[in-house]
Amino acid sequence: MSLGRYKKKRNFGKTPEPKGETVKLRKSPIFVVHEHWARSHHFDFRLEIEGVLKSWAVPKGPPRNLGEKRLAIKVEDHPLEYASFKGEIPEGQYGAGKVEIWDQGRLEVLEKKKDSIHFSLFGKRLKGEFSLFQPPSFEKKNWLLMKK
Ligand code: MN
Repeated sequence: MSLGRYKKKRNFGKTPEPKGETVKLRKSPIFVVHEHWARSHHFDFRLEIEGVLKSWAVPKGPPRNLGEKRLAIKVEDHPLEYASFKGEIPEGQYGAGKVEIWDQGRLEVLEKKKDSIHFSLFGKRLKGEFSLFQPPSFEKKNWLLMKK
């Protein structure tokens, strides 16, 4: 499991976030987008891949129009239970601030490579094909999220 970084950053005695101990296998994978009022307001874009939620912070929110690209900063993998998390991360804790679910739904991964993922989303707000990719000239953690 790749949740070491997730656990290291959090004090589970103080944050209501899930501890990441149980793994629920779903028939079909899901995505979730959290809206997060942390020190700077952003969206957290999460895809269920290989038993965890692969996660990116998207400062300006997911693209809504064809061809539109948004910076997506890779962050630590989150446990699957995080998909249903919403609430208030207390002051002084990692990511302190309010978290709400902005969109969620079924995910279909169409193609996955080391530096790119092509997928379809079946959410309320986000529908259709998207891709996440690492432009070679960018810093390693910086990806682009594009609506196709
Ligand atoms: Mn966040």
